[in-house]
Amino acid sequence: MSNDSWKDCKFDFRSIPTKCDNCGSDRVRYTTNDEIYGKIYGNGGCYICDSCRSYVGVYDTKSKKPLGRLATKELRELKMACHSKLDPWWKSGKFKRTDCYGYLANKLGLHLRETHFGWFDKEYLDKSLIILGTTTEDDIRKYVNSRKEINNG
Ligand SMILES: [Zn+2]
Repeated sequence: MSNDSWKDCKFDFRSIPTKCDNCGSDRVRYTTNDEIYGKIYGNGGCYICDSCRSYVGVYDTKSKKPLGRLATKELRELKMACHSKLDPWWKSGKFKRTDCYGYLANKLGLHLRETHFGWFDKEYLDKSLIILGTTTEDDIRKYVNSRKEINNG
């Protein structure tokens, strides 16, 4: 994928954070998450902001790539609420995961590559909750079928 494909994206958290995505402070450092939880969870790596205490985990401790934006408690709770609405659609095996995110991306007017709850700000998490709250299985099925028509035609 070329870099150009990210140009018109609203959200991009692929890079190592140097500033806090929440408060803008540069007091962001890489550490281990026992500092937050009292014990190590998962791979243990995270970034933390010493100004506002927002944080984010990493994909792996080698690349140290962040999982998303440094998030506050409010954002983390919104993110979990979004997952609890969207995940059952694909965890049940009814739909492909990528189709569920594709549906949401389409509704939000975003690209699939930037459609991660861990990347969204409050505005987009709120929007996602409203959309997912009224989405039916039929809505996703219609979206999937419309995509098939595009691909086949
Ligand atoms: Zn901060």
